[in-house]
Amino acid sequence: MIRLKNLSKYYQGKENVVKALDSINIEFNIGEFVVITGESGSGKSTFLNVISGLDTYEDGELYINGEETAHYSPEEWENYRRKNISFIFQNYNIIDAYTVYQNVDAALLVQGIDKATRKKKAMNLIERVGLKKQAHQKASRLSGGEKQRTAIARALAKDSPIIVADEPTGNLDKTTSETIIKLLKEISKDRLVLLVSHNYASKEPYATRHVRLFDGEIVEDRTVREYNEVAELSSEETPQSLGGGGMFLLALRNLFSMPKKTLFTLFIALFVVVVFSMTYGSYVEQIEATGFTQSHPNFQNSFEGRLVVSRKDGGEMSQDELDTFEGYDSVEAVVPYDMIFDNWMMIGYDYDREDIAPSDGEDLVPSVDFMQRTGRVQHSATLDSIDLSEGRLPENDSEIVVSTRSDEFQVGQTLSVTYMDQRARYDSQSGQNEVTIVGVVQDTTTYQLDLYFHDSFFGSDDAKTAALMNQSGITLEKDGDTLTQLYGEQLVMDETQDPGTFTYKTNNYENETGEIDPSFRDQVGDTYTLAYSHTFDDEHHTFDMTLEAIEDAEGDYQSRILVHPDTLTTLFEDIGIHQVSLITEDAFDANEIQENLGDTYYSVYPASYTNQFDGIARTVLKLFLGGLSIFVLVLMYFIAYVALRNVMGSRSRTFVILRSIGAKKKELNYSLIMELMLIMAVAFALTMAAFNLRNFFPRIIPDYLRYFTFSNYLFMIVALLIMSMFLGFRFNKKIFRKSVISAFREE
Ligand code: ADP
Ligand code: MG
Repeated sequence: MIRLKNLSKYYQGKENVVKALDSINIEFNIGEFVVITGESGSGKSTFLNVISGLDTYEDGELYINGEETAHYSPEEWENYRRKNISFIFQNYNIIDAYTVYQNVDAALLVQGIDKATRKKKAMNLIERVGLKKQAHQKASRLSGGEKQRTAIARALAKDSPIIVADEPTGNLDKTTSETIIKLLKEISKDRLVLLVSHNYASKEPYATRHVRLFDGEIVEDRTVREYNEVAELSSEETPQSLGGGGMFLLALRNLFSMPKKTLFTLFIALFVVVVFSMTYGSYVEQIEATGFTQSHPNFQNSFEGRLVVSRKDGGEMSQDELDTFEGYDSVEAVVPYDMIFDNWMMIGYDYDREDIAPSDGEDLVPSVDFMQRTGRVQHSATLDSIDLSEGRLPENDSEIVVSTRSDEFQVGQTLSVTYMDQRARYDSQSGQNEVTIVGVVQDTTTYQLDLYFHDSFFGSDDAKTAALMNQSGITLEKDGDTLTQLYGEQLVMDETQDPGTFTYKTNNYENETGEIDPSFRDQVGDTYTLAYSHTFDDEHHTFDMTLEAIEDAEGDYQSRILVHPDTLTTLFEDIGIHQVSLITEDAFDANEIQENLGDTYYSVYPASYTNQFDGIARTVLKLFLGGLSIFVLVLMYFIAYVALRNVMGSRSRTFVILRSIGAKKKELNYSLIMELMLIMAVAFALTMAAFNLRNFFPRIIPDYLRYFTFSNYLFMIVALLIMSMFLGFRFNKKIFRKSVISAFREE
């Protein structure tokens, strides 16, 4: 089975070379129970270490099953040990943090044995060494004899042909010591046992052979009694490797068996994740925050996802063309008359004075009971439900979502919407255009009020009117002459007005003499023409109407023309669609659509517009903050390394023991990396969950998460996992710097 031929082993002492083994020639077979004795320093341990592949030899040859070993690489020795050798040491070398069961199970686990088999085998062995009661007790709480029994059970679990035991009873009292040797003898009948002992007499009853060493030489080799030679080990299968699942299980076991160390590591990981995600969050914030977006000179509303399309020939778009756009995969909606996005919209709502009244009940602003604000028209297809702080997305044209930094809007609130500003307006207090808020987005990054309308709104007459209103001029004509250019909310839509008529409200109603402005006085009943020139077709669109009445403007600064809303609908009736916005996800999709559009169309993606200076400033800031994030990650790496150095260092004993029972260095490396990555992933999940709780502590936790998209999360977790991987490599280097033998020798 095993043969040593002229084998010599030297140690470099302080002054001279020590010959620890001197031309040893000996052969052992399976079935033998060899007791090796000799004075201290005679070379017994060295002899065992060389045979078990823990230590090298300089001269001669060691044959295992007839195979030479002199040329073996460290990996081959690892395999050799894994396959052939089980150790039992004087100081037991079991893992204190594990239970008895886990210690025995570990030897089976490193062979890649499945769970059911492991459990059966381990319990069986534990029973055989008489530790059934203590099976789930931590090894640190066992007596010396129990520890050595655990070590024996573990050695047997390895199922290897050779058991080497270097003074296994050296730390035990006489009775216990005898029980242990008896047990060893009993359960290792089909193996080769090499037992080193000081005391031959007490081992004599069990020995089949006695070898005595003196000064590195064999001075006695005596057969004590017959033994049954076993040709082959009964071992069923050759040991397999740990495998990914096994490494993961080992990682979990190590994490759970050392809870204090695990918690400390988790604490450090949390620190790393929090600091890193805050740095990275501020980087993302700088990029995403609305304040940074430069608006396009022609398109005031350059929200991400708006792609403006028109025909190159300036012509009208047919329904077929719109349908084609609608059919594109990445187009979420097609908005005709999309100039509505570039208009401001006036909203009004009842103002609850109680809200702002001081506690004594006195009105703070007693005159205000109706508030008006201007907002930007947006399309609800650009929102996701998760963007909402409250409520849901709109489902019809009378529902909207508002997005603002203030908390003045609530779900269920009714707003009156004045579609037009500048050139015309509704009589907003009449309330005929009411919408209900169904969702709210709290957005602390903007001072703008955004009004998200449902897709069905954008096809309505009102939307068309609102869009066209602000384009080009509206004039009042009579007999082909332009009387006045209407500007600044001079056109008022008033449902009480009959369609086909209008009322003139003049601020010159009374001149110095108290009379009506003479230029209008006699012309009630005359026909006037409302005229509109459209930017796209340059045509003159007209609508004839009768002057119904002239009224005093009642203190208004401006004169006004009051018409029925349908008047404008009719005026704009035959204006076709010359420009649309395609609503899509982002710049990536917009770019793809642009490529698909072909030569017929002209397209602009306003969100990508930046002027040159801002472009450079933005790039610099991006680079700086991106660099800062990476720097912080590297810094965190070093901090984590320093903080965890001792915790990880204290793990080396566990790993040395696992290696001595057959785990490969590589497998343990991966397992440690898995441990760190697991902890990092848990820390990441906890941190992100805590950030999500910011609704409860808004002031303490920064609100970065709202900028994070899936890819941001992905980037962070990948970066953190890579970092923990590097940490793992680093700790592995430290932990595995020493060979198994030198690690054991130091104890
Ligand atoms: P034993 O186990 O019989 O007490 P060892 O095998 O430990 O003896 O040691 C045999 C000889 O080799 C001794 O002289 C010891 O001093 C020497 N020796 C053992 N290990 C080393 C080492 N790592 N470096 C130098 N000398 C060593
Ligand atoms: Mg020794």
